[in-house]
Amino acid sequence: MKLGSQLTFSKLSSEEEWGIFEEDIDEGKTRFRETIFTLGNGYLGSRGILEEGYNNSYPGTYIAGVYDQSEGQSYEIVNAPNPVRVEIFIDGKKLSKEYMEVIEHQRMLDMHKAVLRRHTIFADTAGRYEYESTRFFSLKDIHIGVMTFSLRLLDADAHVTIRHAIDGSAKNEIQAVGNPIRHYDITHASELANGVQFLEAKTNDLGTLIGVATAFEIKGAKPSAGVTVESRTDGESVVQEFSFSAKKGKNYRFNRYISIYTSRELKQSPKTSCIGEVQLAMRRGASNLLERHVRAWAYRWASSDINIEGEALIQRALRFDIYHLLIGAPPEDIDASIGAKTLSGEWYKGHVFWDTEIYVLPFFTYTQPKLARNLLMYRYRRLKQARHGAQTQGYKGALWPWESAASGKDETPQTWVNFDGTIIPVYNSTREHHIAGDVSYGVLSYYDASGDENFMLECGIEMIFEAARFWASRITYDRRREHYEITEVIGPNEFQESVDNNSYTNYLAKWVLKSGAKLYYYLRNKHPRRLRTIKARMILQEREINIWKELAEKVIFLTDGEGLIEEFDRYFSKKDVTIDQWDDDGMPRWPSVVNLAEVKETQLVKQADVILLLHLFSNDFSIDVKRTNFEYYEKRTTHKSSLSIPSYAIIALELGEVEKAYRYLTLVANGDLRDIYHNTEYGMHAAALGGAWQIVVHGFGGVRLRNGVLSLNPILPNHWHRMRFRIWFKGSLIEFAVSNSEVAAVMLRGRKAVDIELYGQRYSLHKGRKIHAKKS
Ligand code: BGC
Ligand code: BGC
Repeated sequence: MKLGSQLTFSKLSSEEEWGIFEEDIDEGKTRFRETIFTLGNGYLGSRGILEEGYNNSYPGTYIAGVYDQSEGQSYEIVNAPNPVRVEIFIDGKKLSKEYMEVIEHQRMLDMHKAVLRRHTIFADTAGRYEYESTRFFSLKDIHIGVMTFSLRLLDADAHVTIRHAIDGSAKNEIQAVGNPIRHYDITHASELANGVQFLEAKTNDLGTLIGVATAFEIKGAKPSAGVTVESRTDGESVVQEFSFSAKKGKNYRFNRYISIYTSRELKQSPKTSCIGEVQLAMRRGASNLLERHVRAWAYRWASSDINIEGEALIQRALRFDIYHLLIGAPPEDIDASIGAKTLSGEWYKGHVFWDTEIYVLPFFTYTQPKLARNLLMYRYRRLKQARHGAQTQGYKGALWPWESAASGKDETPQTWVNFDGTIIPVYNSTREHHIAGDVSYGVLSYYDASGDENFMLECGIEMIFEAARFWASRITYDRRREHYEITEVIGPNEFQESVDNNSYTNYLAKWVLKSGAKLYYYLRNKHPRRLRTIKARMILQEREINIWKELAEKVIFLTDGEGLIEEFDRYFSKKDVTIDQWDDDGMPRWPSVVNLAEVKETQLVKQADVILLLHLFSNDFSIDVKRTNFEYYEKRTTHKSSLSIPSYAIIALELGEVEKAYRYLTLVANGDLRDIYHNTEYGMHAAALGGAWQIVVHGFGGVRLRNGVLSLNPILPNHWHRMRFRIWFKGSLIEFAVSNSEVAAVMLRGRKAVDIELYGQRYSLHKGRKIHAKKS
C-alpha cells in the first residue's frame, strides 16, 4: 500500500468499520460534528471544523495541561489560537456553502489512520470546483499538524486566491456561568524572513507562551501566471494569501504544515522550536509525515483494537470510542491527565474528575500501560497539593480535588447550571470525597494488572498511605449509635448533596484503609528501606496502621439481612418513586410526579452508585446480592449522567442478562456518535468511552482479576460469532479470541509465563503456547 498516494484521493474509501462519515454540510449539526471529528494526539486536540469556517462553527484547539483563569474564576483549559483556517476564493467568491452551492460533499474520519478527509464540489453560475483536503495531527511528531489540499476547476479558467491563517481570536465561549473569555494576549504575529508564519500568545494569568508556526507550499500543477503572495497581520492573526490564474482541469495541490509548542513543556519560549520544527516538517514532506503518523497509529491500534465478528455497527462505534480515548491521552512525557470531555470541547473547563481513574483508566491499564502510568503520575505529582487540600478542609493525609487542572489545586467552580438551567451552588469539592478512594482504586488496579513494582514502590504506596490517612481523619465515631461513620458526603449519586454513610464511599474508605495496612506489612517484609523512607517523609508510625485496620473493620456498611445495600443512611425512608417510561433510545423518562427541586426527597438516583460498587468490587459480592441490588436500583436510576449505564450493563452480564446488557452497550457505545446525551457539541464524554470498553471487555469478555489471576468468563450476544482483543497483563501482551463456547489465548509478547483462568480452569501461558478452553 502506497501511503503517499492517499494524500490526494479522489474517491473516499468506504471502509465502513473504520470510517465516520458526513454526507452534507448541515448548519444544525455543525458543532456536534466538530466534536466527533476531533483530531488529536494527546498533546493537543483540534475540533473537526470545516477549514473555510462557518457562522455556527466552534473552532477549539486545546493543549493538554494548558489551563488559565481570569478574575479569580477556576482555571480552565485554554482555547488556543486556531491554526486550521484556509479559505479559497474563485474570482473573488469564497468556496463555502454560504456563497456557493454544494453539489457533492463527503467527509470521513479515518479512525485507523486518525486522518480527516474531505471531498466537496462547490458550484456557482460560472462553474464547478472540486476541492479535497486531508489533515492530521501527528502521533509520531506530536508538535506537528499537516493539511493537504487539492483544487480543480471543472468548467472554466479562473483567478484563484488561497488565504490561510493562524487565528488568534479564539475564546472560551462555552461557559456554564459567566461570559466568554479570551485567555491570552498576542505577543507576536508576523511572517518571518524565512517565509514561516508565526504567532505567539501569552496566557493572562500564568503567562504560558503558546507558539504556532505554519509553512505553506504549492505542489502539483504549476499555476500559469505568476503567483503573488501577500502577508499581513491585524495584530490578532497572521494571514497569507496566494493568488494565481488557474486553468480548467488542472490539479493544483498545496501543503500546509503546522507546528505548536508551549513554554509549559519547553520551559522556555516556543519560538525557536516552532520554527525549527515546521521547517523540518516541510523538509520531510507531507507523505513522509503521514507515513510516520500512520505507523505510530498502527502500533497503537495493535494492542487497543477490539474485533467483533458478526456486528458491524457496534464494531464501528467501539472503534470510535477507542479512537477518542487514544487521542485524549497525554503522551508519556506530558504532565497532564484526561479531562471529562477529553480535548474535544471545553465543558467542565477541561477539568479532570474521578471519571479518569474509575472509567477511563482500565482501558489504558490493559491496552496502553505506559499511558496509564502517566495518568497516575499526574496525581502523584500533585500529592503535595492533595495534602494541602485535605488540610484546608481540616483533615489529614491527601484529598485529591474533586476537579483538577494543571496545579492540582481544587478547581471545582462555586456555581454551575442545573438540568433545568438554573444556577446552583456546588458543594462537591468539600463533600464528594470518594475521589480519595477513586484515585487509590486506580493506583491499585493499575498495579494489580501491570505488576509495575517500580511505580508502586516509588509512588503508588505513598498515595495509598496518604489516602488511608485521609480516611482515618475523615471518619467519626457516633456515640449514640456506637459506630464509626462518614457523614455529610456526596456519593456518586449527586442528586443527594449531603448524606451520611454513602455505601459506595464507606466501602471504598474501608478498602483503602485495609489496603494501606496490607501494603505496610508488605513493605516491612520485602522493602524495609523503602518503608523507612516513606515513614520518615510521612512521619508515619505503626500505631497509625493499627488504627487503619481497626477503622477498616468498624466503619459501618449499610446492608440489610437479605443483601440489599442501602445507598446511604435513611435512603429507604425517602419517597419511593420508580421509573416506568423510556424514550426511543431506551433512556428512562423523568417521572412526571417529581420535579427537579424535589428529587432529593425521593429514592431516584442520578447515576450508578451501589451498582458501581458491585462492579468495582465484583469479587466481594455474591450473585444473589448483585441480583437483589440490581433489581432494586435499576428501577430508580435515571441515568442522568453518562457515567451511569456501564456498571449496569456489566452487572446485567454477571446475572446472565445478555440482551439487556447488549441494549445498554448500544446506548453507551453510541452515546456520542449518535448524540444520545444531546450535548456532544460541548465535547466527548470520556467516562462513557471508557465505560463502553469496560462493558465489552469486563462485561462480555468477562475479564476480571481474581486473586491476582487474570480470569475470563465470556458471554456474548448470539449474533457475535467471535470477539478478539488484546490485553497487556503483567508485562505480557495476550491475545484472546472468545466465542460463546470457547476461549483461545496466545501470548504475543512477554518473557515470563503468566497464570490465567478460563472458565474457572487454571492454565500457565507462555510465549508461543496457544490455549483453547471450552465452556463446559
Ligand atoms: C457526574 C459526575 C462526573 C461529572 C463529570 C457529573 O454529571 O455526576 O459523576 O464526574 O459529571 O463527568
Ligand atoms: C457536576 C459536578 C461538578 C459541577 C461543577 C455538575 O454538573 O455534576 O460533579 O462538580 O457540575 O463542575
